[in-house]
Amino acid sequence: MRRAIFPGSFDPITLGHVDIINRALPLFDEIIIAIGINADKKYMFSLEDRVKFIKENYAHEPKIKVETYAGLTIDICEKLNVDFILRGLRNPADFEFEKAIAQTNRKLSNIETVFLLTSADTSFISSSIVRDILRNGGNVDGFVPKSVLKK
Ligand code: ADP
Repeated sequence: MRRAIFPGSFDPITLGHVDIINRALPLFDEIIIAIGINADKKYMFSLEDRVKFIKENYAHEPKIKVETYAGLTIDICEKLNVDFILRGLRNPADFEFEKAIAQTNRKLSNIETVFLLTSADTSFISSSIVRDILRNGGNVDGFVPKSVLKK
């Protein structure tokens, strides 16, 4: 079984994440969307909400599972018997950051990181921009899936 984990904060899930997940679906038998819990980070949405947004969006997709985790991504990979980490690349800054993490993870484990390049129409979307729009009362139609818009 070809199983991947897509780790992230998903605060909240955006159409950029959805694009990467949907394009990765044909590549894997199962994709576990793993919401990381970092005690030092302040989140806009509760963990429950972040889980709910993803579960609702993929209610009819049996290949998608949602998990939450604290600690190292490679440790949850081992626990869940996952061989691949899925990540999206938007720009050179993402590349530099992701390169160091992927190489570190390779040094610590046998887990391979698979990168998908962002789509042209979602490459500008990030959770932090969405949070900024929301904080200032703007409209995030076209940035996030319906499950987030409902909130
Ligand atoms: P993190 O806190 O780990 O960066 P995010 O939830 O911000 O978590 O992102 C999770 C993953 O989704 C990362 O690999 C990130 O590069 C990717 N991602 C986020 N937005 C986009 C986008 N618009 N296009 C492609 N990949 C994206």
